[in-house]
Amino acid sequence: LLAGCGKSNDVLVVGTNAAFPPFEYVGGQSGDEIKGFDIELAKQIAKDAGKTLKIENMKFDSLIVALNSGKIDFIASGMTITPERQASVNFSEPYYEATQVLLVNKDNDTIHTLDDIKDKHFAVQLGSTADMMSKKYTQNVTAFNTGFEAIMELKNGKVDLVLFDSEPAANYLAKNPDLKLIKLDFPPEFYGFAVSKQQPELLNSINHTLKNLKASGQYQTLVSAHIK
Ligand code: GLN
Repeated sequence: LLAGCGKSNDVLVVGTNAAFPPFEYVGGQSGDEIKGFDIELAKQIAKDAGKTLKIENMKFDSLIVALNSGKIDFIASGMTITPERQASVNFSEPYYEATQVLLVNKDNDTIHTLDDIKDKHFAVQLGSTADMMSKKYTQNVTAFNTGFEAIMELKNGKVDLVLFDSEPAANYLAKNPDLKLIKLDFPPEFYGFAVSKQQPELLNSINHTLKNLKASGQYQTLVSAHIK
């Protein structure tokens, strides 16, 4: 019966870009496992829906297209809820508050206020909120498929700064002592799980899982285990 074609009903497919630690990253004992805070939440979402979770790792910039073409059922990828995205997908209740920060090389002492980043050369992740926001400050923006590649460009001295989400920036900083993190006055961003507008039941189910995890204290346990 349509062997190997399409998705089975007892599988829930989550799309992610596993280059965003501690929310999603490739690691574990085998070195090729996809792990992280979002993945733990996604596992619980699948469990509560009575399904087996399947993870599709792809470019961040491809996630919404994959969702709306039915290739994946939901997105768990530290995705910020924005009005632009809400035009094409539904978001769960917010599950994490973050903000943008800057990574620069340690010897860079030129940045103290938002005025100082005007006309600097930015590196960002393609299709991210940082990518969209950077255009307010400069046209000199190079976009990469992962934050990791943007940070490599910074380390190689090809750009002045990386604009990136707070937790992954702190995570990469811990492994790159030659970098420095700068916090400026960027607005808060709220992460949500994205679901196709054709799947209101899945959206409800995800919101129920979030509510239950928060009420039971498991949510806070997961935060403590994965973040900072
Ligand atoms: N929160 C940012 C966004 O939604 C970055 C997410 C990510 O790189 N995974 O664009």
